[in-house]
Amino acid sequence: MTVSTPGLVCAHHHLYSTLARGMPAPPRTPSGFQEILEMVWWRLDRVLDPESIAWSARLGALEALERGTTAIIDHHESPNSIDGSLSIIADACEEVGVRVSCSYGVTDRHGADGAAAGLRENDRFLGDGEREGYVGLHAAFTCSDETIAAAAELARKHDVGVHVHVAEGDRDTWERLVPFSDDDWLIVHGVHLPDDHGLRGTLIHNPRSNMNNGVGYARPVRFDQPVALGSDGIGADMLEEFRLAYVAARADDVTFSPDQAWAWLAAGWDLMPAALDDRVYWATESDDPWYLAFTPGTSPLEIEIDGETVWEDGEPTLVDGDEIRAKAAEAATALHRRLADLDDE
Ligand SMILES: [Zn+2]
Repeated sequence: MTVSTPGLVCAHHHLYSTLARGMPAPPRTPSGFQEILEMVWWRLDRVLDPESIAWSARLGALEALERGTTAIIDHHESPNSIDGSLSIIADACEEVGVRVSCSYGVTDRHGADGAAAGLRENDRFLGDGEREGYVGLHAAFTCSDETIAAAAELARKHDVGVHVHVAEGDRDTWERLVPFSDDDWLIVHGVHLPDDHGLRGTLIHNPRSNMNNGVGYARPVRFDQPVALGSDGIGADMLEEFRLAYVAARADDVTFSPDQAWAWLAAGWDLMPAALDDRVYWATESDDPWYLAFTPGTSPLEIEIDGETVWEDGEPTLVDGDEIRAKAAEAATALHRRLADLDDE
């Protein structure tokens, strides 16, 4: 029997981190979340160039499709290659056939000029209204009050929400976002938010990433607002993320059910409703969350996006999957070399 669902949605991704696998280890083992940012991700994003952004997005989109994910909400940062970066990502996803909603994570980590360039890139990308996106903010703790206000204003101008990391670690200054937040915002992580935080928007839960960074359990059941699932850049296997969301919740409360975790996955369709028009035919006996929560490796047999077959017989139809994997591997080698040569101040 073949079971079909709409295309799955990854509600928080960093396609730029697709080529991170195999990268040189940091000079020493990071001791906590802040050092993971400083020693891993904030070094990687500095060496991204248009070429590596394009190949990481193509490979990330291909690997999303491979797992039945037809829509990605991406959050991008490449401080030395900001202008045009969101279009590179959108074009790469379009080639593969995957839907994407882009945002540039504005931050003051690279000075006021860096923040201005990030705002400009969001504004440029959203400008013609033809492509889907959010205004991105990295996180309140790396942004000035002026930058936060400017991002919120830009989002209002384009009638979109703000896509921002919130209270992922315990040292965020997320309170500064509260006066600006709205129902169309994406509140990513929320691990250290109090129950009555006052932020409006959809809470994006990233169970694998939170475990990987040792930041703690967000316990999303305590929030009143909608909750959706993201990968935070570690692939886009959303059935796997659903299963992890289930066991992480179960470790906290054994009465938690797979139906509740499935509702979080399904909330992705409220954020990217176009994915409801997509069809994924799965090699599985049942689409009951109680069945899927205990079934590893459920894979798509065929995928239609907007009526067009984009995946069949284990391969994408619009692009050459082997070529993307090979070229992405070359781009990763070059990226890792630049990372190894990076002169840390
Ligand atoms: Zn993230």
